[in-house]
Amino acid sequence: MHCLACGAPLAGRVDKRFCDDACRSGFHNQKHREQDAFVYKINKILKKNRKILSICYNRGLQSIFIHKLLEEGFLFGYCTHIESIEGKRGYINFCYDYGYKTVNKNQVEIVYKYSKEKSLPL
Ligand SMILES: [Zn+2]
Repeated sequence: MHCLACGAPLAGRVDKRFCDDACRSGFHNQKHREQDAFVYKINKILKKNRKILSICYNRGLQSIFIHKLLEEGFLFGYCTHIESIEGKRGYINFCYDYGYKTVNKNQVEIVYKYSKEKSLPL
């Protein structure tokens, strides 16, 4: 067995994973840094998506061409939650309080919804 942090051979108990406390905490700190960096990266994308939707919406552009959103740097596939449309087929993909739904294969409609706590399971 080798230390998970520094790779040095380990002697002693068979379930030993690290040389010492320094290697143990170093390993866990590194793991947390990587996880934090990943979460940070995703949050940055989500916030950018929200900002793009909000700018378009507040310009009065309720329908927008998908290629325009892509040009602005919008990344489809990153959303916070999905809601079904009442009484209709289809879904709204939200980036926080702004969302979009498909109009046709080239366009989406931008939706703003400030969800009151009753609709959020918080
Ligand atoms: Zn070590």
